[in-house]
Amino acid sequence: MSRVSLNGASKRYGKVVALEDINLELAPGEIVGLTGPSGAGKSTLCRIIAGIDRPDSGAVAVDGLTLTDTTAPQRDVAFMFESFALYPHLTVFDNIAFPLRAPKRREIYDGEAIAARVEELTTLVEIDHLTKRFPSELSGGQKQRVALCRALVQEPSIYLLDEPISHLDAQLRHKLRGALRRRLVSLDKPSLWVSPDAMEVVSVADRVVVLIDGVIQQIGEPMAVYRSPSNVQVARLVGDPAMNLITGRLAEDNGTIAFRSAGLTVSIPPGIAGTHDLEGRQSITLGVRPNRIHIVDGGADASGQNTVEVYTYEPFGKYQVVTVRAGDDLMKVKSARTRPYAPGDKVTLELDDADLTLFDAETGRSLRRDGAAPGSG
Ligand code: ADP
Ligand code: MG
Repeated sequence: MSRVSLNGASKRYGKVVALEDINLELAPGEIVGLTGPSGAGKSTLCRIIAGIDRPDSGAVAVDGLTLTDTTAPQRDVAFMFESFALYPHLTVFDNIAFPLRAPKRREIYDGEAIAARVEELTTLVEIDHLTKRFPSELSGGQKQRVALCRALVQEPSIYLLDEPISHLDAQLRHKLRGALRRRLVSLDKPSLWVSPDAMEVVSVADRVVVLIDGVIQQIGEPMAVYRSPSNVQVARLVGDPAMNLITGRLAEDNGTIAFRSAGLTVSIPPGIAGTHDLEGRQSITLGVRPNRIHIVDGGADASGQNTVEVYTYEPFGKYQVVTVRAGDDLMKVKSARTRPYAPGDKVTLELDDADLTLFDAETGRSLRRDGAAPGSG
């Protein structure tokens, strides 16, 4: 068993704050998904857990024992590097087998056991026909899979997978998300799965950590992060397409509160945010997921309210994404209908008002009340 924790870890590179006061625990058998934009500090966090970098302050502990002074090789971490870090002079087979031939493992795995493990993994990720090649003879996606196998072939205290499937084609990514999740949870070790694609970690992880500018913005169960992003920065990352964020004002009309922007009027049902949170607010940001907006066919209603113009139209087979212009804002609508639209078409929008999120327009913080996450996804 190993429980890994980061306790108040901070790291700077000159003036750049790569990580700020990170507190995070990874439990055995748990996949923690770490997401955030490029430069957020994701790889730095991995390197600190692995012992390749030292935090300026704070510490890493395994099973409650602080590791600050142990070196990388002592930590028993299987680290898949974002850069792959393959040995150029070794074949694919020998790259993957390398960790099993280390002095401390030599007695555990004989040649036959090594070959069996390598074959199982290379078959899983569909590179079993490439084992005799050298890294220079591989594509980026093939190198990535070699690096992935070299991490998975080990039985360490923790798996750190820094962007394990980002360079693979969509079909293989889809297949491997599920297959890797099954494998990692069965191993009873903590895993950290890093991806700038928030929906990838939402789909594979038990818990999602959103890191932006070195600061943890939100930690939670995947669907909780998806449904209730803690601020607009998280809202912009999580979702496909991401949540629409429209800034406007609140107006009270006969006891009901309405949101108004240049192109949109939406009534805000009670319970979306605490009433005291909304009182006296001039501007506010409305968040609505693309799949919570419906295009009403048949053109505008009498009032012309929420009638917008189609900007672009993208068919994806099972669904379509229609981008519309509402006032100054471009909004994305994800619709299961397959009626095509052309730029310039006038359409009317209907919003699922039970699934709206309001954010403070200045701070960007969600005004959704804790535990009051409405809607069901
Ligand atoms: P991510 O993996 O999320 O893209 P990184 O952890 O690689 O982000 O980097 C976080 C920040 O720290 C970035 O601004 C990056 O430029 C900076 N950084 C990372 N490593 C170094 C280094 N060795 N020297 C200087 N700056 C670095
Ligand atoms: Mg990185």
